[in-house]
Amino acid sequence: MEKTKFKRRMFAVAAIVGMGMTMTQIAFGKESFNAENGGLNYVLPADNGYYFLCGGHLYFWNGDVTKQAVPLCSRPNCSHTTEDCVAMIRDASRKMYEVDDGFYVLSTWPREDSRTGEKMMPIWRVEKDGSGKEIIAEIPEAGSVNYTIFQDKIYYTMEDAQEDGNYQFSIWQMSLDGKDNKQIWQSDLYSGYIDTLQGIGDWLYVSENGCEEIIDWTNEDNIDFEKLPMRTNLYLYQPQAEEWITNPDEYKKEDVLLSIQNIYQDEIYLTYYDSKAEIRKVWKKGFDLEDEAQFVGEFPRKAYKWDNLYGYTWPDRNNENENWFEIYDHNGTFVQKIDLYPYDDVDIVSADEKYAFVYWEQVQDNVSQDVIGVIERDKIATQEATLIQLTKGMNGNSFER
Ligand SMILES: [Zn+2]
Repeated sequence: MEKTKFKRRMFAVAAIVGMGMTMTQIAFGKESFNAENGGLNYVLPADNGYYFLCGGHLYFWNGDVTKQAVPLCSRPNCSHTTEDCVAMIRDASRKMYEVDDGFYVLSTWPREDSRTGEKMMPIWRVEKDGSGKEIIAEIPEAGSVNYTIFQDKIYYTMEDAQEDGNYQFSIWQMSLDGKDNKQIWQSDLYSGYIDTLQGIGDWLYVSENGCEEIIDWTNEDNIDFEKLPMRTNLYLYQPQAEEWITNPDEYKKEDVLLSIQNIYQDEIYLTYYDSKAEIRKVWKKGFDLEDEAQFVGEFPRKAYKWDNLYGYTWPDRNNENENWFEIYDHNGTFVQKIDLYPYDDVDIVSADEKYAFVYWEQVQDNVSQDVIGVIERDKIATQEATLIQLTKGMNGNSFER
């Protein structure tokens, strides 16, 4: 492993342990550090169904749990197993964005730039009708990939590694054709990571976790990670005005790690790694900080809301053989819990009025496969909701609606 990456991992794990998380939760850390956990971009709802990314393919599913999801590829007789398949994106990042009847997906499989020799990761555009795909832009390969598409611009982070082993992040803005590119922000923390990079409403939300001081990596064995001055910043960027709002002092507590977990209509769900989840209302200028945050639970990994119901995931809370999705009403009264065990790495990635979308990995014939399933919202009231695995139509099925 490259030394910088090793240091980063050590640092991130140590920081989280210092924040009071248990060892069992560290297994989930790699996802928790990632803005992709925002949960908005794995599944894109449409009038006639849902588009989603799973296991390196784009699929369309018509919203009927008895029907298969089909690869988003209209090539006749395509096996959907070779890279010329329209629906197939090698090492696809789990985010996808819709712009003008096309889906944009980052491939983390780097290609070498023939002129500069630099390793670049392509961003693909896949036509919504499954008729074709093309590379529209590239971003530099990074150990920690974070990108988003917001208001027809690509935003991505870059690591500025320094000789002393410390590094900082910067945020870059690029046009959708990849031609115009500029740095819009430079981190003031060291050796951390960008957690959230996500456009919501008029604002790009950026949360940054790291250390206030340069770390002496030459003395690595003696670093007391718990005593490092950690900080989490939340920034909001308004692209038209090129205006940044920095986080209020409230978020500068060194014992709090803030993460945006989910957005539902005008409410935003924030989790603190010191055990709390809160809801704050989103308004036009970002957070309404005058508004009392509503406390929704302790130790959730994810929080979701449907109407007056809230759902939380609780991975490995007391027992590594447990993984529940628990649902409560607005008053905190328990309604139903759904057993997600025995699947590993179960993650509820998105929810709308009808479904919560659930991802997990399943090992078959020694090959790990990404699987997607749903939980039906309207079955929760009668406690009949279960996890339903969606089946994928492959083997020559062409995309049709
Ligand atoms: Zn295909």
